[in-house]
Amino acid sequence: MRPSLVIVGAGPRGTGLIERIAANAPELYDGSGLDLHLVDPHPPGAGRVWRAAQSPLLWMNSHAEDVTMFTDETVDMAGPVRPGPTLHEWAGIDGRTFADRQLQGAYLRWVHEQAVAALPSSVSVHHHPRRALRVSGPREGRQRVWLEGRPRPLPADLVVLTLGHLDAELDDEQRDLAAYARAHGLVHLPPDFTADSDLSALAPGEPVLVRGFGLAFVDLMALLTEGRGGRYDGDTYLPSGREPVLHVGSRRGVPYHSKIGYDWTGERPPLPRFLGPAQIDGLLARPAGFDFRRDVWPLVEKELGFAHYHRLFTVHPERTAMPWSDFEEKYAVVEAAAERETLVASAVPDPRDRLDLAALDRPLEGARYATHEAFQEGLREYVETDLSRRHDPRYSPDLAVFLGLLSVYGQLVRLGDIGGRWHGLFSYLASGPPGPRLRQLLALSRAGVLRFVGADMEVRAEDGVFRASSPTVPGHSVEARALVEARLPEPTVRRALDPLLRALHTEGVAESPDGLLRVDRVDGRVLDRSGRPHPRRFALGPHTDGRTPGAFTRPRTGGPAFRQNDATARAALEFLGELAGRAAA
Ligand SMILES: Cc1cc2nc3c(=O)[nH]c(=O)nc-3n(C[C@H](O)[C@H](O)[C@H](O)COP(=O)(O)OP(=O)(O)OC[C@H]3O[C@@H](n4cnc5c(N)ncnc54)[C@H](O)[C@@H]3O)c2cc1C
Repeated sequence: MRPSLVIVGAGPRGTGLIERIAANAPELYDGSGLDLHLVDPHPPGAGRVWRAAQSPLLWMNSHAEDVTMFTDETVDMAGPVRPGPTLHEWAGIDGRTFADRQLQGAYLRWVHEQAVAALPSSVSVHHHPRRALRVSGPREGRQRVWLEGRPRPLPADLVVLTLGHLDAELDDEQRDLAAYARAHGLVHLPPDFTADSDLSALAPGEPVLVRGFGLAFVDLMALLTEGRGGRYDGDTYLPSGREPVLHVGSRRGVPYHSKIGYDWTGERPPLPRFLGPAQIDGLLARPAGFDFRRDVWPLVEKELGFAHYHRLFTVHPERTAMPWSDFEEKYAVVEAAAERETLVASAVPDPRDRLDLAALDRPLEGARYATHEAFQEGLREYVETDLSRRHDPRYSPDLAVFLGLLSVYGQLVRLGDIGGRWHGLFSYLASGPPGPRLRQLLALSRAGVLRFVGADMEVRAEDGVFRASSPTVPGHSVEARALVEARLPEPTVRRALDPLLRALHTEGVAESPDGLLRVDRVDGRVLDRSGRPHPRRFALGPHTDGRTPGAFTRPRTGGPAFRQNDATARAALEFLGELAGRAAA
């Protein structure tokens, strides 16, 4: 029997893994033959999120020059570096383009083809355009992967689950809202992939409550405006008359911070500094474990502050009141947040030059507007200020904080999943919409097609309608017959609709406190509830507690996802190599 490796999920993560298998095979696998089965109903490379069959109005939220599927020397891994083009180099487009998802899908397809071509000739690749339903088999023996519509399973010496973003069953609140909508003839769209949602029930001119102001909202906004025939004439939106009126709010009540619109120049902050491998080792060695708020967050704050002030003092010493060497020495020793604030206040005169994470995180905290209209203007001003600051290189300490966030993420991955709150903050600060999208948002607001509800948005199902209010505009509420939850489903094992993950849950895989699939931090082997790694099952990606900031790595930033792909590929090849050796002996 030829050894067999089954990869379930052929999106970016599955593709990155094949790239690493090809890179490491010459060293670790002696060419004794291997069947590599790739299972995914969607096309290999692009997978579901990046498939060609979707609206061209949906964009990436990364600059094309910041997207690579290839490793470089900054990746800390045992396998060899195999350089390759970024998205913008491959597509021959300007590096600052926000490519649409179809183009990124074409790049991913090409990467997939390259990776397959680079595999040793003894490896045969088979794509099965089906869902995998179940993995069975003993811990110490061959696994079987059952596919939809196929009576016989695929034999698998190893299985890797690169399942990505998953659909989930409704939680109690969503179930109640759905039942209320059914009983009163209302429309309720629960958390979903916006590209896959049926939006036809959202009628022209009708108010629609939208809960969620992140990237799912941006997709929804594009599909319900330009997607309904509206267009932009410069900064003016010309409606088609087929748009509903969107009333959007969330916990923060504001959109994610704009993508930064200028390049890094000059010396990089020397990171990691206060949150590096030594601090992570220290946290992992604590016999009583660690608490994120108490033990990790202060290190995160200190690291991000260091990145910010290093940049400010290096490129704008005229905006500081102390030599960098003095500041750095004092900054290194202060521990309490209040002492740090005092130091910063004495060294950085302009508050706009200080890093205030709490204010960045909750800009509407405590804000109250007398009228709904006053708030619309206030929020437009907020977005305009954010847009201009994030495109102004005089505020390049913001970009240093972005680099700090990437560095911190790379370190925190070793702690396992440390909570959705950190992931959310990272996305809000570092993974926001392209500037042009926020300019569209402003135009839609001025045209009255988009209205802002406020922070801590509350939605009640009452009097036969949905009603939304927010403490930002006391006394104001809005009624609608439609409610859209603009966010992805939670990627938890317990609620996943995917039968494969549910079966694993029943069998006893371990879950993180956030309900994600727990995996070994080094090579991605799936853990059971006693913490034992499964010898033959691996998982990589956003449904695991080894999740990284996103699938796409910026060139020369270390890329924790690449490190993980390399470690998993090597562990898999070593295992398969030993198996082939034993069979030959
Ligand atoms: C809408 C959206 C937009 C995004 N935009 C960006 C962006 O602009 N920039 C960025 O850096 N990141 C972005 N991300 C982050 C995202 O994590 C990555 O871009 C990437 O798609 C993740 O790759 P993945 O392979 O882990 O998961 P996915 O892309 O979700 O791929 C997983 C694949 O597994 C398949 N699968 C799942 N279950 C089964 C099963 N049981 N049987 C067979 N196949 C199965 C699915 O069909 C899918 O093709 C976005 C994510 C989403 C959801």
